[in-house]
Amino acid sequence: MPQEQLMDKVVSLCKRRGFIFQSSDIYGGLSNTWDYGPYGVELKNNVKRAWWKTNVYERNDIFGMDAAILMHPKVWEASGHVKNFFDLKSDCKGCKKRFKAEDIKEATKCPECGGQLTEARPFNLMFKTHQGPVEETGNEIYMRPETAQGMFVNFSNILDARHPKLPFGMAQIGKAFRNEITPGNLTFRTREFEQMEIEYFVKPSEADEKLQEWIDTRWSWYLDLGLRPENLRKRAHAQDELAHYAKACTDIEYSFPFGWSELEGIANRTDFDLKQHTQHSGKDLQYFDDATKERFFPYIIEPSGGVDRSVLAFLVDAYNEEKVKDDTRVVLKFHKDLAPTKVAVLPLLRNRPEIVEVAKSLAADLKKSIITVYDDTGSIGKLYRRQDEVGTLYCITVDVQSLEDKQVTVRDRDSMLQERISLDRIKEYLITKLS
Ligand code: ATP
Repeated sequence: MPQEQLMDKVVSLCKRRGFIFQSSDIYGGLSNTWDYGPYGVELKNNVKRAWWKTNVYERNDIFGMDAAILMHPKVWEASGHVKNFFDLKSDCKGCKKRFKAEDIKEATKCPECGGQLTEARPFNLMFKTHQGPVEETGNEIYMRPETAQGMFVNFSNILDARHPKLPFGMAQIGKAFRNEITPGNLTFRTREFEQMEIEYFVKPSEADEKLQEWIDTRWSWYLDLGLRPENLRKRAHAQDELAHYAKACTDIEYSFPFGWSELEGIANRTDFDLKQHTQHSGKDLQYFDDATKERFFPYIIEPSGGVDRSVLAFLVDAYNEEKVKDDTRVVLKFHKDLAPTKVAVLPLLRNRPEIVEVAKSLAADLKKSIITVYDDTGSIGKLYRRQDEVGTLYCITVDVQSLEDKQVTVRDRDSMLQERISLDRIKEYLITKLS
């Protein structure tokens, strides 16, 4: 399928089935701002849960955090964001469209209308607002452009509270805001987005090795959750591309329908942040090594991924169209941990109260341990198609025969194979399949 068509199909499915909606739609929409609908929020939560499980629960050396979005304004002076977090932009004097200088290279004419472009001017990407009722310079405050700083400023709190030894890390998932010049491609680049970030503190001598370890670990995470290997690649940054704080960085890129683009960056931030915060706050953020009796600033390895970009990659990657007899079936083949709904219970005949009763009571029981929906609003063919389109793993049908033999039919989303399972074994069967 042509890549352009794929993106259009995913966008339309997202709206049609309730994954992603345009924000403030009834007012004409706020451009490049998106709301996650019933399936979208489940998918997004599953991505975040999978990340937290791998990076926090399954390790002994990473501590979870949830820092505030609003931080002391000095944080952003210390971090270098006030001075360095700029993109260069050019405006077209004709059509007024705005371009990122790096996208149009040295062009002097507008690529859209041929009009004259202004000279490239720096544009700080941080959103500014005011804290408190009076709007004056003294109480200006920023919406955080990355979650990372919330972890750096808590470095000594974690040392005091948990006494970890190097190497150790902090992990956080949360919103970040950037006044992007060229947002677009659905949720790929937006001004409000969510990040999943790890700040991993290491001895400076071990930084290169740990950077490589994290690149490999994060690479495997995407593969383990089902992204096709041919759609993933690693790209090391050239020196002139590195952020102001980084010594090295490798991006994990995904082959989106609009081209290879960054999913996650894994950077060696050196001791830049801890040193800067020590200098600006007056609080010593060095680590004391009990064994060697040395005090030093650890280096930081930072795997920083976007929740929304991952969700988009998982959606695009899962999208399949298959010929079934004379029909085309659209199916989202999500990994079982990511599928928004695991099971759908569908009565074969909705006008037979005994069947509906069995189906409803089975669904109610399954719901206690598995994300399950009950649906009797269409013919079985229609119901299957609906569940395939949102990636539901198993469809269970209750039919006339079920009333006699106390068995139901379980249909596997990917193979479409059907199996008869007895009602008293079905829950255990599904739990085993889903674990
Ligand atoms: P890009 O080069 O695409 O602007 P970046 O290198 O500035 O991204 P980082 O600062 O490394 O991004 O942020 C880490 C991650 O946060 C990115 O890999 C991406 O997944 C996510 N991210 C960054 N900016 C946005 C955005 N505007 N919209 C959605 N996700 C974003």
